[in-house]
Amino acid sequence: MSYGIKPITMATIEELAAFCKKKGLIYPSSEIYGGLAGFFDYGPLGVELKNNIKAQWWKTHVHDRDDIVGIDGSIITNPKVWVASGHADSFTDALIDCSKCGNRVRGDQFIEEKLKMDTAGLDLKQIDEIVKNHKLKCPKCSGNFKEATGFNLMFKTSVGPAAGSSESYLRPETAQVIFADFKQVTDTTRLKLPFGIAQIGRAFRNEISPRDFLFRCREFEQMEIEYFIRPDQLNKCPYIDEWMGYEMNVLSAEMQAKKHPAKSMKARDCLDKGIIKTAWHAYWLSFEHNWLTSLGVNPARLRIRQHLEEEKSHYALDTWDLEYHFPTGWREIQGMANRTDLQGVERAFLVFLLEAYHDDKSRGNIVLKLHPQLTPYKAAVFPLVSNKPELLEKSKEVYRLIKPGFNSYFDQSGSVGRRYARADEIGVYTCVTVDFQTLEDETVTIRSRDTTKQVRTGIKELKESLAKFMQGEKLESLGAVIS
Ligand SMILES: [Zn+2]
Repeated sequence: MSYGIKPITMATIEELAAFCKKKGLIYPSSEIYGGLAGFFDYGPLGVELKNNIKAQWWKTHVHDRDDIVGIDGSIITNPKVWVASGHADSFTDALIDCSKCGNRVRGDQFIEEKLKMDTAGLDLKQIDEIVKNHKLKCPKCSGNFKEATGFNLMFKTSVGPAAGSSESYLRPETAQVIFADFKQVTDTTRLKLPFGIAQIGRAFRNEISPRDFLFRCREFEQMEIEYFIRPDQLNKCPYIDEWMGYEMNVLSAEMQAKKHPAKSMKARDCLDKGIIKTAWHAYWLSFEHNWLTSLGVNPARLRIRQHLEEEKSHYALDTWDLEYHFPTGWREIQGMANRTDLQGVERAFLVFLLEAYHDDKSRGNIVLKLHPQLTPYKAAVFPLVSNKPELLEKSKEVYRLIKPGFNSYFDQSGSVGRRYARADEIGVYTCVTVDFQTLEDETVTIRSRDTTKQVRTGIKELKESLAKFMQGEKLESLGAVIS
């Protein structure tokens, strides 16, 4: 399963978790009291990165488009929402017991481990079918399993004073709130089909065994779009033409059945060959794939994978996952059924971090090469030395100049080399250094995190130069190169 992937030099999930804790990106929640499994706090850098991911998602999916509007629904709703959606009855994890020795395993985890299959969204019946079809036996005594039983994953809570209070749930997903608000949205906007409703918000699941760092948390955020299309218009996507030549690694259900590897294909070929069933689906898969790559994710580590018949939810005609090759293997980061486009913020967060994490042996430190739109700090401002009052004063002036437009910090402690290294480790896109020449000619140096190259540019042009650099212009075009 290593098709098209360069040898991965990325960190393991454990290394990444340790790095995140050390640098204040993410740490276990309430750790001074022993923590609580499945809950994490985002620290000063983590919240910036997370907010930037959400802001970029919102910009691309809502602000830049005419056909999608946003909502922000409440976390606790009338419990009837969850009865109507089926969650109250069947939003369960499957527990399966051995009929011989009584050993109990979690159905989906057991299947994932044994068959390397993504089990997200499987119901009890589907779990039983897979256990039966693949003749899975008890790992302890090789006995047969009984039918799976369910454990409801919704967190219950009571609303109102204890006596006469009513029981409700913390929402386990954001989608149902979008459906419940559908009429309000159409009544108050002038949207006509096809259109979408987007939401970013928290959801809660009482996972039996949270694990793998941010993969399976009990509290998490979803970025979700419900896109509504008339059933007879599924091949009438006005945007598809510009995406026909878009290429992705594709793993269809048939390729999986034949044990063929994923293959790079154009959207056009997927549609012509009937691999992707509708133009709208091909469009959304391409669009989401492009969203990730445009923010720095290597397309060789992405693929779209069609769900097998037995993985499909009952309401979905055709479902695809956008998967990323994590250090632990291929895992879903986004699911796209015929109507729903769902991404977990935490998994996107992990993907961007893994892509950015470089252990740079020549520099002797980690370099976090986050995309300039995502990285917490765009710039840092340093005086070359900290014991010259006129340098300090000038560098603070420069700092005050750029801070309002570029999230930045000021650092004067230690050697300038140490300050560069610290900045690299937390992904600061550029360092602005004020030196003795600055006092003579009002110029500063700006340094690229990714290449360590530096150019000298005027303070007058600094804001414009930084903006251009963030937009992807070459550093060398922004000033005189320092050799
Ligand atoms: Zn057994």
